[in-house]
Amino acid sequence: MPVLNTDAFLQRAIRCTSDECLIWPFARSRAGYGQVNRRKLKGVMNAHVLVCEAVKGPKPTPEHETSHTCHNGRAGCVNGSHVEWATKKENMRVRRGRPQKPWKRKLTQKEHSDLLKMYSTGLFTQAEIAAHYGLAWQSMHHVLHTPAKRV
Ligand SMILES: [Zn+2]
Repeated sequence: MPVLNTDAFLQRAIRCTSDECLIWPFARSRAGYGQVNRRKLKGVMNAHVLVCEAVKGPKPTPEHETSHTCHNGRAGCVNGSHVEWATKKENMRVRRGRPQKPWKRKLTQKEHSDLLKMYSTGLFTQAEIAAHYGLAWQSMHHVLHTPAKRV
């Protein structure tokens, strides 16, 4: 694979819809987050924040921070479908409610269609919905893009 520059990799991260984490191959912060040098504008930026802004729009409020639905932010994940805005409170609540082996859980058809309805209201983050149904954040992308079967 040819070596990409940071901007090309950002574009790839923004378009990424894979369930698998996309790990930033360039400089990382001490905490593990991907770093982009934007010295002329703002200095060094967190790559996943730039991706989140591009995918989800600007930070909704100052209380919001980026949240990795895959919990791999510190491992350098910049997958655009794994980041979203969440308040600190939401972040904590979701972390606390994280189920043990969520990937084992299967939704009933009724639950699945309820979940899609819940998501379509736009009132809940994917993280909140995942926590509500005891699902892994990683599985949400798949769940949301699978049409509900008619019972
Ligand atoms: Zn990820």
